[in-house]
Amino acid sequence: MMRDRFGREINYLRVSLTDRCNLRCEYCMPEDGIKNKIPHCDMLSLEELYKITEMFVKVGIDKIRFTGGEPLVRYGAVDLIKKVKALQGVKEVTLTTNGILLEDKLQELVDAGVKRLNISLDTLDPEKYKQITRGGDINKVLNGIEKAKKLGINPIKINTVLIGGFNDGEIPEFVELTRNGGIDVRFIELMPIGEASGFAKSKFISNEEILKRVPELEAIEREDPSSPATYYRLPDGKGKVGLINPISCKFCTNCNRVRLTATGKLKLCLHSNREIDLRKILREGGDLEKIIRESILTKEEEHHLENEEYITRNMNQIGG
Ligand code: SAM
Ligand code: SF4
Repeated sequence: MMRDRFGREINYLRVSLTDRCNLRCEYCMPEDGIKNKIPHCDMLSLEELYKITEMFVKVGIDKIRFTGGEPLVRYGAVDLIKKVKALQGVKEVTLTTNGILLEDKLQELVDAGVKRLNISLDTLDPEKYKQITRGGDINKVLNGIEKAKKLGINPIKINTVLIGGFNDGEIPEFVELTRNGGIDVRFIELMPIGEASGFAKSKFISNEEILKRVPELEAIEREDPSSPATYYRLPDGKGKVGLINPISCKFCTNCNRVRLTATGKLKLCLHSNREIDLRKILREGGDLEKIIRESILTKEEEHHLENEEYITRNMNQIGG
């Protein structure tokens, strides 16, 4: 077990497999794609990603989430996930995906040991989906969700970023998806990060809006204290509705996670620009285990987004 200096157990690693993506969500990426594409040699190879993840598992990580950019556009992603799932001590591997490639890859992912999935979907309307993702086809995502249900992924968590004037009118429809079980919906407040800082500020609406629009939602007990979401349910609903307020409500006291970027930077707090270069340590033959253990002890106590301390990286580079 690994603890930071505030006594928090750190057992959750989020690994970004790539900064590339097959969509261009308005709040996440510039329209013309990534401006400074990471040169190939700066990206961790799959072997390096495996080695660093293996070391994290050795020091106490037992839950790993793969993200991106879009993790499924990285060639070899599923093989890596399978190898990581097979490491001794790993309890769970999960994935955050936009769902575009899910239908094709799902069987392989299930075979690799993935039992849960987070799928990002900000609208249920095909035209609006095309608009917010700058060209995406919602049917691919919906087919992916259907297939995930058939293959027993449970729960399927749908992540919906709340965007004022864009999808706040769809709140009841999203909540309705949770009624019969199998699907949880989590509403996420827009974060003023990277390129999207300006966009996010003008379209920000608080999660409290959900409770105003669907007042029958009932609060339910937190199963996992480290989860950034507070959960609700429809009175006769089987699935859960989660509210994630990275800005208006802090969840730092129970934070159990650290992040690894596709270039091998360790981010101890999503909301800090501070990074530790593990790629350099690995490539120069340094003591990775020692550096990881020491770095964990420097994890930030809490974040200060409300003080306008903006993050300069885009979410596609961090992984959310
Ligand atoms: N491409 C994958 C996807 O969209 O699920 C994984 C990476 S994406 C960066 C992870 C999550 O971050 C998505 O749910 C996305 O909606 C969310 N996200 C991106 N930019 C955001 C922002 N500025 N504020 C809040 N959430 C954001
Ligand atoms: Fe790509 Fe995900 Fe960012 Fe959308 S939110 S542009 S799908 S990385």
